[in-house]
Amino acid sequence: MGYVYLLHFEQPINPTRPARHYLGYADDLGRRIQQHERGIRFKVVRVWRGDRELERRLKGWKQMPRYCPVCGRNHQLRGVEEVPAGEIEEMLLAF
Ligand SMILES: [Zn+2]
Repeated sequence: MGYVYLLHFEQPINPTRPARHYLGYADDLGRRIQQHERGIRFKVVRVWRGDRELERRLKGWKQMPRYCPVCGRNHQLRGVEEVPAGEIEEMLLAF
């Protein structure tokens, strides 16, 4: 069991598409997030405890803005444990 995380980018990830969100899975959140560091600034907006199955499920819904507090939505996932913001920060600061 690892982490399913949602990133909100300040600009579209791909200039030809409007998408500003990225959903991914990581065993080691801090290390994985560090690998995302590149040109476009982003924020780690939500993290849930889960596996690749949860990642696939969420990706299939293609409704990431619904889960993004930066975009003004904060839809809850029933039956999935969310990692509190303080805990996310600690994991990121370790890198
Ligand atoms: Zn967003």
